[in-house]
Amino acid sequence: MSTSPRIYINGKFYDKMEAKVSVYDHGFLYGDGVFEGIRIYNGKVFKHKEHIDRLYDSARAIHLTIPISANEMIQAVEQTVKENNKKDGYIRLIVTRGAGSLGLDPRKCEPNIIIIVDDISLYPKALYENGMEIVTASTIRNHPNAVNARVKSLNYLNNILAKIEGIRAGCQEALMLNHKGEVAECTGDNIFIVKNDKLKTPPVDAGILEGITRNTVIELAQQLNIPFMETSMSRHDVYTADECFLTGSAAEIIAVTKCDERSIGSGKPGPITKKLQEAFKALIG
Ligand code: PMP
Repeated sequence: MSTSPRIYINGKFYDKMEAKVSVYDHGFLYGDGVFEGIRIYNGKVFKHKEHIDRLYDSARAIHLTIPISANEMIQAVEQTVKENNKKDGYIRLIVTRGAGSLGLDPRKCEPNIIIIVDDISLYPKALYENGMEIVTASTIRNHPNAVNARVKSLNYLNNILAKIEGIRAGCQEALMLNHKGEVAECTGDNIFIVKNDKLKTPPVDAGILEGITRNTVIELAQQLNIPFMETSMSRHDVYTADECFLTGSAAEIIAVTKCDERSIGSGKPGPITKKLQEAFKALIG
């Protein structure tokens, strides 16, 4: 039986219906803040330190000083998982700029720390078995001279617009290009291809979020002796790949079998994708 989540706000726990922040919070008014999406597997927070490090890096990049230390944040997340008695689930960790005046000036804001522990909503099982279809969105990923895509900020509008393009085309994910027209990533997942037994993914400077699942897959590939390289790629490389898959904390590893109505490889999840999925499953236990 699932009970109502207990939400952490600035060191206190509230029932879901009572968990509230000010409408003057700049996170709400301007998307001014940072966040993380983290998995809990078998009662353990997966890649906890990596997520906390990325959160603090994102915060530093936007001049947001998180009022507690990284170690205290780790404790707060653990405490929230315990409070919710969750063995498998999803954590949404958010740090907003906090409540201020109606202008953009953040100087009067006191950051809010919010931790939600809840169930994860996954892609349908059939998509994991058969692979998913994606389309290229016309909305590009953040230009590097704007908020860097490495910052996991509360400003996800580019990705949301691209996601809507995907949904309108009947797809669950959409491919986003960078300002140079190169493949960047999907709206909430990183992308990999396999060509001639070599695993490839765009480098971080293609303008992507440095996904923690992406980095885990790179480590697994090294352990499994799968040749790997980071390389810029075009849509042509995706269309002509032998295999393609996406990675993310929520999605884990999911095959892509069609992009822009081109069937990829055999049109089914490929052997290297499956090998990495198995290794990932073994890792999360
Ligand atoms: N790219 C974007 C834009 C994302 O939002 C996410 C999800 N956080 C990812 C990639 C995958 O990152 P991770 O593996 O750290 O969840």
